[in-house]
Amino acid sequence: MRILLIGPPGSGKGTQAALIQKRLGFPHISSGNMLREAVSEGTPQGKRADRYMSEGDLVPDDLVIEIIMERISLPDACKGFLLDGFPRTVPQAEALQDALSDGLANPDKRINYVLKIEVPDSEIIGRISGRRIDPVTDKIYHVTFSPPPPEIATRVIQRQDDSEEILRSRLGKYHADVAPLVEYYDRRKILHVIPGLGELSEVEARIRAVIEPS
Ligand code: AMP
Repeated sequence: MRILLIGPPGSGKGTQAALIQKRLGFPHISSGNMLREAVSEGTPQGKRADRYMSEGDLVPDDLVIEIIMERISLPDACKGFLLDGFPRTVPQAEALQDALSDGLANPDKRINYVLKIEVPDSEIIGRISGRRIDPVTDKIYHVTFSPPPPEIATRVIQRQDDSEEILRSRLGKYHADVAPLVEYYDRRKILHVIPGLGELSEVEARIRAVIEPS
């Protein structure tokens, strides 16, 4: 099964992706995580991506397409994958479509579901400004909703692009970028809107109702 997850930063899509991965076993491939890894490893791709990411801008299509195409052609993704944060633009969606229909990633060409998680901007700003990340495990905490244990609290960091100013700019860009993408998948009748407010388990149930209909 091939699932794409679309949602603004802080919509809970990473958490939901991890839950789906646990249940269904398909790899969760996050373009943001892969790019951050490339940056912290100092690879040529990471060095190129860094200045865009720290400004809250999208990295150039060719760069992220290269990283994701390599990843989805690995054997663990041949039966399916869960893409989180990719595609973000129509050229990226077209590149993915081309790769799938070339049989590069898999002879079965279908993307089964595109899930768009919707959360109001005001809620996102509250959620993200308190977000902290453990650089050792990549686990995400929240100063109010899920504080880190004391031994981890001393080492958690705020992602540079989680600051409120950069976040507002990311949200503005997200809405502008996502509109054509939504139209692209809506035309293909595989887009499903998932309301992202409420408990984690409620959002999970809404997703399951779409991807695992009884
Ligand atoms: P995320 O963790 O998904 O919020 O991504 C963090 C940052 O990585 C974004 O603000 C972009 O700079 C970059 N990024 C992640 N995915 C993509 C993508 N599909 N296209 C372009 N830039 C991306």
